[in-house]
Amino acid sequence: MIHEILPVGPLQCNCSIIGDEASHEAVVIDPGDDIQDILALIAKHNLRVKQIVITHAHIDHVGGAMKLRAATGAPILLNQNDYALLKMLDMQAAWVGMASPGKVEIDQSLAQADTVKTGALVAQVIHTPGHTEGSVCLYFPAQKKLIAGDTLFAGSIGRTDLPGGSFEKIIDSLHEKVLALPDDTIVVPGHGPLTTIGEERESNPFLK
Ligand SMILES: [Zn+2]
Repeated sequence: MIHEILPVGPLQCNCSIIGDEASHEAVVIDPGDDIQDILALIAKHNLRVKQIVITHAHIDHVGGAMKLRAATGAPILLNQNDYALLKMLDMQAAWVGMASPGKVEIDQSLAQADTVKTGALVAQVIHTPGHTEGSVCLYFPAQKKLIAGDTLFAGSIGRTDLPGGSFEKIIDSLHEKVLALPDDTIVVPGHGPLTTIGEERESNPFLK
């Protein structure tokens, strides 16, 4: 698996570029900004982007999706429970002091237990409401790797005080779905350093 993690934009959202070494097909997760840098990494590895997956519709994760779609022709995938948040991108832009990316169009909805296939790579969609209603994680079982969006961070969890957020729901999602994964699963959070499920199970103060 080719995996580049690039913090993008003023809020340094971790954008993942994940490619299949044999077919050179790739999925890009959370292209929030800095699309030229993302495209440079895609070119460096000679990848063809097949899907653009958005873990949730906050501007720092979705802001560059339309530019990346225009450059690659790949469809944009998002859980439909976050479509309402997409309509608030202008407001979100004002909150964080970013320029609004304009209208974002979703090509395909992602639901619990859907699979995203990229060449020989297979990711399972885990719907993890709480940070937003439509938050999802992408789990690559063969590689034991979880792209967690803003549901789980090293030593912390996603904030739940924004529209659509629910502390009860994020705690349920974490205990019922995320902590069900093996301890040696590598977690790539939406911001900040990598961690593992075991590390968070043991030391994350929100999961005690
Ligand atoms: Zn977020």
